[in-house]
Amino acid sequence: MAANNMEELVSLCKRRGFIFQSGEIYGGLQGLYDYGPLGVELKNNLKKAWWSSMVYERDDVEGLDASILTKPEVLQHSGHEDTFTDPLVDCKACKSRWRADHIEADGACPKCSSKKLTEPRPFNLMFKTNLGPVDDGTSFAYLRPETAQQIFTNFKNILDSTSKSLPFGIAQIGKAFRNEVTPRNFIFRVREFEQMELEFFVNKGTDEKWHEYWVDERLLWWEQQGVPRNRLKKLDVKPGDLSHYSKKTIDIMYEFPHGLEELEGIANRTDFDLGSHTKNQSSLNIDASIKKNKASIAKLAAQDPETNEWSVPYVIEPSAGIERGLLAILNEAYTVEEVEGKKERTLLSLKPHLSPIKAAVIPLKRNNEEIVNIATQVKNSLQKLGLGRILLENTGNIGKSYRKHDEVGTPICITVDFDTLENKTITVRDRDSMSQTKINISESPELLKDLVRK
Ligand code: ATP
Repeated sequence: MAANNMEELVSLCKRRGFIFQSGEIYGGLQGLYDYGPLGVELKNNLKKAWWSSMVYERDDVEGLDASILTKPEVLQHSGHEDTFTDPLVDCKACKSRWRADHIEADGACPKCSSKKLTEPRPFNLMFKTNLGPVDDGTSFAYLRPETAQQIFTNFKNILDSTSKSLPFGIAQIGKAFRNEVTPRNFIFRVREFEQMELEFFVNKGTDEKWHEYWVDERLLWWEQQGVPRNRLKKLDVKPGDLSHYSKKTIDIMYEFPHGLEELEGIANRTDFDLGSHTKNQSSLNIDASIKKNKASIAKLAAQDPETNEWSVPYVIEPSAGIERGLLAILNEAYTVEEVEGKKERTLLSLKPHLSPIKAAVIPLKRNNEEIVNIATQVKNSLQKLGLGRILLENTGNIGKSYRKHDEVGTPICITVDFDTLENKTITVRDRDSMSQTKINISESPELLKDLVRK
């Protein structure tokens, strides 16, 4: 199922502690959000799933965590200083600002409907910040607008330290910042977000095959996170709309509550990036149209083990946004059900590996010391499995606890009752089917492991 509209998701996220507007007590700041107790778990679980599939389950990808503050030269040679812009228009009537490509075909201001708009002019989306104590504009860094560039600048470091040979990739998860003109649609378009990016380096000539491979891999991965294939569309970006570095880009589009939009982009970036950042450009037969680089001190090329010839690898880049991923996953999981033909229940049918809380352990009576002690032991022993958060839910109200855990996506609730004192059985209640099964306490670790690792 899916939410009827964005408001339902925004409301659940706030009510249950997934996502709050940043600086809310001072009126909020547009395009910035804070992740609460459940949001941080969900986000970490999604990152873990990506890292595991990209790095641990393969042997041809290495990880990186580079700095956010970025030396201006990096973003000069990447092309961002010149081209990382959006076309901006001002409404002369109401003074609001818009991205020219977000204005409808009628050419009217979305706020006041006036057609008196300025000509579009480029607006650079990068945030700058001052380095050191003197703020005279001479010593500054950019907050990276994508995680990719520091992967390229570390290419030689990683190649030298890991002895990898082509094809191989470098994966990174981290914050990126864009001064979006019109942040909107909850966490879909924000000014501070996180990306999960892989730069996969391949031999020229094999790039198209690898591009197709990564599109298929990524579609499969989103399915494993609970976004079914039939809710995703592949958009072959038209040549005129491609970024300056791209030979071909497939955008994975998802039907968000506000419309069909990009969830992830998979680009064939050719040899543009390493070619732009390398020294000795003229001796390396670079295909892409690049600017001269006299500042770089590193040769960003790979040597063919047989011919010993140097060449600049092509790059395939699957680049996904965590916020858009969370929005798609929450939307898909959001379900409102009729129970026995009348009462509604809201549940998040999240895949258990993504659930913020893996199991809630509920003592039947909050003041019964024996029951609470056993529940605490069950919690502690399940927590030690390292599968994620197990919560001792000592509210004394089982019905209320079930409703809460349905709504936050906890796959099972475990009740400790008087039978537990007698014969060590506990009741496991399944979120999706609401079925209840009695098992022995000793069976609970295996049950949880099977559930979360599925
Ligand atoms: P859009 O066209 O929607 O602005 P983009 O094509 O500029 O996106 P990319 O530069 O390809 O986006 O970035 C890769 C991914 O990073 C996107 O697919 C998206 O998931 C995420 N992303 C980019 N900009 C934002 C943003 N402002 N807020 C949240 N996520 C973003």
